[in-house]
Amino acid sequence: MKITSGKVNQLLTQSGCEHNHHHADGKGKNKACKQQAQPGLAQGGCAFDGASIALVPITDVAHLVHGPIACAGNSWGGRGSLSSGSKLYKMGFTTDVSENDIIFGGEKKLYKAIGEVAQRYQPKAVFVYSTCVTALIGDDLDAVCEAASKKFHLPVIPVNSPGFVGSKNLGNRLSGESLLEHVVGTAEPEYTTPYDINLIGEYNIAGELWNVLPLFEKLGIRVLAKITGDATYDEVCRAHRAKLNVMICSKALINMATAMGERYGIPYIEESFYGVADMNRCLRNIAAKLGDTALQDRVEKLIAEETTALDIALAPYRQRLQGKRMVLYTGGVKSWSIISAAQDLGIKVVATSTKKSTEEDKARIRKLLGEEGVMLEKGNAQEILRLINQTKADLLVAGGRNQYTALKARIPFLDINQERHHSYAGYTGMIEMAREIDEAIYSPIWEQVRKPAPWEV
Ligand code: SF4
Repeated sequence: MKITSGKVNQLLTQSGCEHNHHHADGKGKNKACKQQAQPGLAQGGCAFDGASIALVPITDVAHLVHGPIACAGNSWGGRGSLSSGSKLYKMGFTTDVSENDIIFGGEKKLYKAIGEVAQRYQPKAVFVYSTCVTALIGDDLDAVCEAASKKFHLPVIPVNSPGFVGSKNLGNRLSGESLLEHVVGTAEPEYTTPYDINLIGEYNIAGELWNVLPLFEKLGIRVLAKITGDATYDEVCRAHRAKLNVMICSKALINMATAMGERYGIPYIEESFYGVADMNRCLRNIAAKLGDTALQDRVEKLIAEETTALDIALAPYRQRLQGKRMVLYTGGVKSWSIISAAQDLGIKVVATSTKKSTEEDKARIRKLLGEEGVMLEKGNAQEILRLINQTKADLLVAGGRNQYTALKARIPFLDINQERHHSYAGYTGMIEMAREIDEAIYSPIWEQVRKPAPWEV
């Protein structure tokens, strides 16, 4: 797949993504997807990073980065996507291009590297990622991958998303294009059922998917393909036979959902696994979309069972967490789905970020936060500190790099982003989240931390 300006424009203007809708005043479009990095501000990763984030969770393939070693090294292993099978995806492969390759071209080196990986690791496929350097020197990724595929008798998938083409989000979508062009639809499932679904945009961070898969199994819903958390290569090949695509907590791969709708007639819905209310709604919506009344009855029965058991398990936490005040600083759909999960525990979310949220997300946040809640459009450590003081928050829930802000404010912190080690999805995830928040807030360390220093008394 060649990256043309037409292709990039098409990916940035997906109709299902609210970022691309016209402003309320009818003038121009919201440019959120096209925003370039601001010098001096902490930014998300590049397009290459976005592509690898979305594809690396496919567990039994080798992911080979064609570029200088730092491109791979800077982002490799940052996300905690877990696997129930192969661990091959955890190996970092790179062609490590050097000055000579830049002058004479890196195609031969790439071809050789694919052969070496194929021979030494016998992967199901090799995904080859371009980077700024190898795209700029003009290495023809598609041609090398095609030749290597024929020679080594295995699928070699080019992922054309060098960092300079745009944001992490664009990289996500470009990786989706690679799957659509080279993987989805290349194999047939042994059999199909009326209850086959795909999950799109769930990466099994800290094993979150494993909290939810048993629920689908109990209901008789088959997850035909996970795109891409804990996925095998073969299941992604067969994804085109699903009856429904369920996009989880992200519009990152919305191009996959829309393209699969057009090509294979698969409708899609957007759902979240965080919080009791959202989990219930997710199961109900899937059953309704699959249009089976017996399944809908099973869902209602399961929800009744799960919520009864959950109420018992959460009762002690709800008592201890009632009325605690939380500042939430995260991105996209988590900025509202975690509010709903916190409110289930009796916690008052006093502020949340809306930086990466779509208009649809913001509308949900407004509804959930009420009049008093603060919506933080732009945030930095100083602004978060000010907000914590202003709202007298008891807890900051944010991405890992904000933990020092919480420490400065002398309040507990919970990591909610990709580096987290605990899974908060599904009904069991709610118990885990309650336990983590409870442990953070009631840790005896806070009494010590908040005491005046010996030299101050
Ligand atoms: S911006 Fe380019 S050089 Fe930097 S990490 Fe991304 S792909 Fe590599």
